[in-house]
Amino acid sequence: MNDIVAAFAALHGALFENAVLPALFALGLMDFSEPAFDATEFVLIGLIQIGAVYVLLRPLEAWFPAEPWADRKAVRVDVLYTFLHRIGLVPIAVYALLRPLVDGTDEMLRALGYIPPGVEDAIPALHDSPFLTFVVYLLVLDFADYWRHRLQHRWGLWWALHSLHHSQRQLSFWADDRNHLLDDVIEGLWFSAIAFMIGVGPEQFVAAVMLIRFVESLSHGNVRFGFGRWGERLLVSPRFHRTHHAIGVGHEGRRYGCNFATLLPLWDIVFGSANFSYRGMATGITDQLGGRDYGESFLAQQWLGLKRLAGRA
Ligand SMILES: [Zn+2]
Ligand SMILES: [Zn+2]
Repeated sequence: MNDIVAAFAALHGALFENAVLPALFALGLMDFSEPAFDATEFVLIGLIQIGAVYVLLRPLEAWFPAEPWADRKAVRVDVLYTFLHRIGLVPIAVYALLRPLVDGTDEMLRALGYIPPGVEDAIPALHDSPFLTFVVYLLVLDFADYWRHRLQHRWGLWWALHSLHHSQRQLSFWADDRNHLLDDVIEGLWFSAIAFMIGVGPEQFVAAVMLIRFVESLSHGNVRFGFGRWGERLLVSPRFHRTHHAIGVGHEGRRYGCNFATLLPLWDIVFGSANFSYRGMATGITDQLGGRDYGESFLAQQWLGLKRLAGRA
């Protein structure tokens, strides 16, 4: 593990010194060298993540496809979403929007003498075990994610944005970042607020996000396997999440859909929204069959999302 960390640090340093720093110098932007150092790390992590997911999941999609496609044209826009997210453009924009809000709230609460309690204070036994603390953080974050996702389906205005995620009819491991940018901001706010309230530290935050991201990439894969009878109930699998995207199934019915969980199907089991029996493979939104357009290009998708929000599309 230490070797990996050291190798990463060396790569990060070399990239910064040989590429980023000379570019900043040439552009007269040396004042920004400190944030640029952090940004280089973020971009590098993003690229390694994309590389790792591609190497692991692309062969699985080729060998065990859930659906064979004549061409992969519809997937291209999802590749763009993934790069915009993983090399940091979307997170940086969300961060820039949220930072003043989070700082302001933090300052205000501290001025009032309130310090977020953190789970270690609620469960003193966790003080001795960083690993268990991390597991508890994940449980809380995943629980919050489950309810965020249920509301995205339940509230018409939120569905106007979230439906963009569901409109992909060629679902692949690239699809997990396919979201409306406004939805990204709301999700970022939701996730950071919960993390802040339970006292997740910056390193644990990054680790949690990376783990969640990996499971999300896998669960969107165009592969036709699950994790077996018990595995399906332990961790969200490609089959479980494909049912969430299933046309006519994943966003309809009494609960406005099924299989909302990000990591743990447990929440769907407890709150009555699990569907382990569906075996169909086709994904999308029912009204697409009637010709409703969700856009093919990135800009069209974003624009149509805003129009749906305004009730004009
Ligand atoms: Zn959904
Ligand atoms: Zn999804």
